[in-house]
Amino acid sequence: MTPLTLAAPHTSAVRAELFVVATHKVRDRSASGPSQWIPYGTEHAWQPGTRRTLCGEFIGGWTVFWEKRFSARPAAACPACVEMTLPEASRNRLDRIEHSAAS
Ligand SMILES: [Zn+2]
Repeated sequence: MTPLTLAAPHTSAVRAELFVVATHKVRDRSASGPSQWIPYGTEHAWQPGTRRTLCGEFIGGWTVFWEKRFSARPAAACPACVEMTLPEASRNRLDRIEHSAAS
């Protein structure tokens, strides 16, 4: 058995860690041992210290899954949050709201 080698992150400029947050949670009954809470419904990305998801939803009352790093892989991942995790260059096709607030 070869131990799993953790690959280095794709980019050197790693942003703050993003965790999965969701409005609902369910017990994961497929896991052996003590059942864990897993997200139910859309998985949003959240950065500790903020009060909103990357897509701008307030997470008041939401569940934070500290053991789950946000990933674009699951089908349940919020498309808007995934978009926010992409490099700036690949977001150019989106209209940014920010430039209307410039000086
Ligand atoms: Zn989202």
